[in-house]
Amino acid sequence: MTGFKCKDVGMNCGFEFKDATSREEAVQLAATHARVAHGIAIIPPDLAAKVQAAIKA
Ligand SMILES: [Zn+2]
Repeated sequence: MTGFKCKDVGMNCGFEFKDATSREEAVQLAATHARVAHGIAIIPPDLAAKVQAAIKA
């Protein structure tokens, strides 16, 4: 299981999940959340790096 907390990338946001089945799925879930909840249509490279670091394998 793979998890992610939005606040770990510096967002003031309570979104988190713990049940992604792979790192790839976690990245997809985080990207979808960023788009829907934060209006980030394209993840910039610095944020992508933070997301990668925040994903708990
Ligand atoms: Zn968020």
